[in-house]
This record gives sequence, structure tokens and C-alpha cells, in this order.
Amino acid sequence: RLETKIEGIASSIRVVPHFPKPGIMFQDITTLLLNPKAFKNTIDLFVERYSSMDISVVAGVEARGFIFGPSIALAIGAKFIPLRKPRKLPGEVISERYVLEYGTDCLEMHVGAIQQGERALVVDDLIATGGTLCAAMNLLERAGAEVVECACVIELPELKGRERLNGKPLFVLVESH
Ligand code: AMP
Repeated sequence: RLETKIEGIASSIRVVPHFPKPGIMFQDITTLLLNPKAFKNTIDLFVERYSSMDISVVAGVEARGFIFGPSIALAIGAKFIPLRKPRKLPGEVISERYVLEYGTDCLEMHVGAIQQGERALVVDDLIATGGTLCAAMNLLERAGAEVVECACVIELPELKGRERLNGKPLFVLVESH
């Protein structure tokens, strides 16, 4: 049953208070990865949803989008594109800067990874304020992709990140309050 699977996933995620700094409730997905059944259910639920959506690109956000994205991409027959932190990609890149609580960060994507009009899914482990997914979507759209949806394992709904996605659909498995 769906609820049983979701419950198994939710209970496999360890919550670490005050990491990496005071006040943050860190959602640690490494404990989900230690539970093969819950890990597989996570991937399967995404695959069930996306296998009939004609998606040709899965883009994963460094670093934890790299843990979930490629398995989804392989299962639905899509390519995988890593969206990386600055100065990691060797080829020509486009960059998108975004605002964090303190300072800014940046995501980069290889030019030429995507063809005009390709249908893309953006994957990360978690949405908090939505800034990261917003930057990821901007990169893909600047490269000519059509972003179909964003997918995360966990949403922190109190931070209202969903509202920063410019109306783009967001699919999550677990909400953490
Ligand atoms: P945001 O851009 O605010 O939506 O933050 C999302 C990104 O930061 C994701 O890549 C998450 O992995 C990471 N992140 C933010 N808050 C948390 C948290 N409480 N626990 C784990 N990861 C987090």
C-alpha cells in the first residue's frame, strides 16, 4: 500500500537537530539509503509517476540529487544531467546564481547537454525555501528545456518553497513539520 511505503520512507529519514548550525533540523537521507526496501520504494514511486510523462531529461542537483536522479533516469529511459556547484564541470557552462540565508550560491550546467524543447524533470532530496530548485529550473529553461515538474523526497512546507517555483508543479513523498 502507498501509505505503508510512504511511512517506511519517512521513518527511515533521520532528523538531526542543530546541524549544520543551530536551529536547523537536518533531514538526513543517508539512513534511508541504508534501508534497501525504503530506498527502492522511493525510486519506484518516482518511476511510477514519471514513466508515462514523456520525460527525456532528468536533471539532478548536486549533491543529493545525484543519489536519486540517475536511478529514476535509467528506469524511465531518460538522460541524466548533473547540475553542479561552480568550477566542477570541465566544459562550457551556463550558471545561475541564487540567494541563500547567508550569501549566494551558484549552479552550473554543461552547454549542449540539452536539446531545444526537451521535457525535463528536476530532482533533489529536499525543498526548503525553494531557491535551489528555482535556480535549477532557470538553468534548464535558459537552455531551451520545458520543465515538466520538480521532484523531491522531502518538503519542509512551513518554508513555503513551493510558492517560489512560479507555479511549476512539485511532487514530494514526505512532508516534515
Ligand atoms: P532551498 O534552496 O532552501 O530549498 O534548500 C534546498 C537545498 O538545501 C537542498 O539541496 C537540500 O539538500 C538542502 N537543505 C536545506 N535545508 C535542509 C534540511 N533541513 N535538511 C537537509 N537538507 C537541507
